[in-house]
Amino acid sequence: MDQELVQITREKTIQADKLRWTLYAMHEEIWRKLGIPQLDSENLPHRVEENVVTPEWMPVPDCQTCGACCGGFVAVPTEPDDDVPEEECWEIVAGEEGEEYVVDRYIRRRESDLACKHLWGGVGGKVTCKIYDDRPNMCRVFEAGSDRCHALRRAFGLEPYLSVEDMFAARQRLKEHVEAKGAESDKIKSVSITPDEAGMMKVEVVTKGGESKLVHTFDPAEETWYRVQFEGKTLGEAEKMILS
Ligand code: SF4
Ligand code: SF4
Repeated sequence: MDQELVQITREKTIQADKLRWTLYAMHEEIWRKLGIPQLDSENLPHRVEENVVTPEWMPVPDCQTCGACCGGFVAVPTEPDDDVPEEECWEIVAGEEGEEYVVDRYIRRRESDLACKHLWGGVGGKVTCKIYDDRPNMCRVFEAGSDRCHALRRAFGLEPYLSVEDMFAARQRLKEHVEAKGAESDKIKSVSITPDEAGMMKVEVVTKGGESKLVHTFDPAEETWYRVQFEGKTLGEAEKMILS
């Protein structure tokens, strides 16, 4: 593995503006050993009820002999209410040196294979999550048997590839699914949390439709917000979350 990636797995903090590169480099390292993805996994549903590719008759796989999502996802973010051990997370920080603010926390990856630090065992063998009861929200909402679950299992060789015919049919259904979602122009595409001159934090978002908006300003001594909480929400959902 690239020496720089080994060093990254030992880091405690990552600058927010370097995060994209870090995740990209780890993604490349993990996926160069896996099968070529047949589908655009980013757009595949992670909930069974939203499946567009997996037939209903397909049995739900057993997580305890899998672990493909824990091995294949590079970015497992935590939210402020998650009870994940902080010492096992990267702090993603923004702001000047000495006055840095945590804007996200991601579970660190282990050095041997870049799987999640909390995965016990190797993908495809007997596995368990060492913090199962306290696993972050992202892991709780990811469902076994979902389209994305099966796609990861295929990439790790735990399920056979789709036939060429099934792959093209699945791509077509996924394309229609993405086009239908594309109408949601008020969904948040990117988020930045940065300090202003008075030491308050500004949450600024850009929607899929291209609208830029300041959605919240908060005192970091009194409130904690991470970028991941806003990503993928509509502006209305974000406002409701802030008020709650
Ligand atoms: S990829 Fe699916 S079956 Fe495998 S551990 Fe994750 S949720 Fe469970
Ligand atoms: S926290 Fe647990 S469930 Fe979540 S990715 Fe890590 S090992 Fe898997």
